[in-house]
Amino acid sequence: MTQSSAIPTVKLLIGGELVESSTSEWRDIVNPATQEVLARVPFATQTEMNAAVASAKEAFKTWRKTPIGTRSRIFLKYQQLIRENMKELAAILTAEQGKTLPDAEGDVFRGLEVVEHAAGIGNLQLGELANNVATGVDTYTLLQPLGVCAGITPFNFPAMIPLWMFPMAIATGNTFVLKPSEQDPMVTMRLAELAMEAGVPPGVLNVIHGGADAVNLICDHPDIKAVSFVGSTKVGTHVYNRASQAGKRVQCMMGAKNHGIILPDAHKEQTLNNLTGAAFGAAGQRCMALSVLILVGEAQSWLPDLIAKAKTLKINAGAESGTDVGPVVSCAALDRISSLIERGVSEGAELVLDGRNPQVAGFENGNFVGPTIFSGVKPEMSIYREEIFGPVLCVMQADTLDEAIELINANPNGNGTALFTRSGAAARHFQEEIDVGQVGINVPIPVPVPMFSFTGSRASKLGDLGPYGKQVVQFYTQTKTVTQRWFDENEVGGPVNTTINLK
Ligand code: NAD
Repeated sequence: MTQSSAIPTVKLLIGGELVESSTSEWRDIVNPATQEVLARVPFATQTEMNAAVASAKEAFKTWRKTPIGTRSRIFLKYQQLIRENMKELAAILTAEQGKTLPDAEGDVFRGLEVVEHAAGIGNLQLGELANNVATGVDTYTLLQPLGVCAGITPFNFPAMIPLWMFPMAIATGNTFVLKPSEQDPMVTMRLAELAMEAGVPPGVLNVIHGGADAVNLICDHPDIKAVSFVGSTKVGTHVYNRASQAGKRVQCMMGAKNHGIILPDAHKEQTLNNLTGAAFGAAGQRCMALSVLILVGEAQSWLPDLIAKAKTLKINAGAESGTDVGPVVSCAALDRISSLIERGVSEGAELVLDGRNPQVAGFENGNFVGPTIFSGVKPEMSIYREEIFGPVLCVMQADTLDEAIELINANPNGNGTALFTRSGAAARHFQEEIDVGQVGINVPIPVPVPMFSFTGSRASKLGDLGPYGKQVVQFYTQTKTVTQRWFDENEVGGPVNTTINLK
C-alpha cells in the first residue's frame, strides 16, 4: 500500500534520530475494537535497515567501554520514566492491540520489572576468580558484550517482550536493533523514545519495522552477533535455523499449549476464578494462557460451574471499564479462531460454550469472540494439536494424576503448566515428573519474575538460555577466561607453564 498523508506514520529509530521511511510499502495499524486506522507502519528499505545496523556497530565502539554504573543509572532513570508514562503507554497499547487497560498496564509493568533488574547490572555481570590455580597464577573470567544484538517481537505483548530484550542487552554493553511486530509497533516506539530520554546514547538502540524481509536481514547480517526471537513456532524455527547457520547466537521463545490439571481436592472457588482468568484473559492471546484443562476424577463434575463462571465475563472494547475479554488483534486472527472452532465441532468435540459472534453494543465492527469451551477433547483433534491463540479452552478428562501427567508429557510443547490441589505430595510428584519448563502450583500462569529466567522448554523453545534474568546475562555476553601471572622483580624465572606448577 502507498502512503497517505492524513494518517500518522510510525518512524524508524536510526542513530538516535526518528526517521521517516522512504519506503513505498506501508501497513495500516488498526484498532481491533473499531477498525479505525490509527497509523501506518513502514516496511523499511534494505538501505534503512543496513543503516540501523551500521549505527549500532559504530555506537558499540564506545558503549562497550561505558562504566557499568553509567549504564545502570540510565536504567534507573528509564524505570522512572516508564512509571510516569504508564497510563499513556497502556492507552496506546490498548488502542492498537485490543487488550483491556488493566491488562495493558500489566504488559508494561512486567517489562518494567526487567528494566528495574537491568538497573542492577552491577550485581549481575560479574565474572569469577580463582586465586593460585598454580603457584603465583590466578584465573578469572570477564563477561564481555558481544556487539550488535537484535530482537524480533510478536504482537501479543508489545511492551513486555521488547523490554525483555533491549534493556538487558544494552545494560550488558551491547548495542541493539529491534524489529517489533508490524501489527502493533506504536507502544514499542513510545518505549524506545523514553529510552532515549533516559539517556541511551544515539545508535545504542535502533528500531526498524517490517515483516519477513526485515527478519531475514537480521538473520543474515554479518554484523549482528546475537538474535532474540519471540513469536510463533513456525517463524521461530526459521529464525533459529537461518541465524544459527549465519554463525549467530540465537534464542527463540515460541508457541505453546499449556495444560492445567485440576485434582478434586483443589480449592474450588479459587481454582475456577484462576482458570477463567488464565484461559480467557487477554482474549487467550498469551503464550502462557491455560488453553487445556484436565479434570481428574471427581473434578470432572466441576465443568458446569466453570461454564457458568466463563459466562459472567464481560466482552467489550479494551478501553471500556469493567471489560474482561477484549477483541482479538485482527480480522485474520478472528477468522482463524472461528475456523478452528468449526473444526473442533466437526472433529467431534462437544462445544459446551460457544463464544462466537457476541453482540458488543457500540463496537459492532470489533474482532470479538467470547469465552468458548470444548469438552471431550482428544489428543488427535486439531483444536488440541494447534495453538488456537484465542479465548478457547479445551477440556479433557483423566482418571488419575499420572494419566494427566502422561498426556502433558506426550504433547510436544513445554512452555507452562499448572496443577491445582491441596496436596503437597501430589504437587511434589507433579513438579518432579512433569516435562515442562515452567510449573505453577495453584498458580495458573507461572511466568517467572526477572531475578529468575523465562524457562519454557521442548518445542516451545530453541536455544539454551532464556530471555531475561540470570540466563540472559550469559546470552548477551562472551565469557573470556584469563589466566594471569606477575613476576616479582627478584623472582627466579621459570617457564610460564601452568601445567608444570599444578602439582
Ligand atoms: P509471529 O511468529 O507471526 O510473529 C513474530 C515476529 O516474526 C513478528 O515480528 C513478525 O513480523 C515476524 N514474522 C512473521 N511472519 C514471518 C515470516 N514468514 N518470516 C519471518 N518473520 C516473520 O507471532 P505473532 O503472531 O506475532 O505472536 C504470537 C505467537 O507468539 C504465538 O505463537 C505465541 O505463543 C508466541 N509467543 C511466545 C512467547 C514465549 O515466550 N514462548 C511469548 C509471546 C508470544
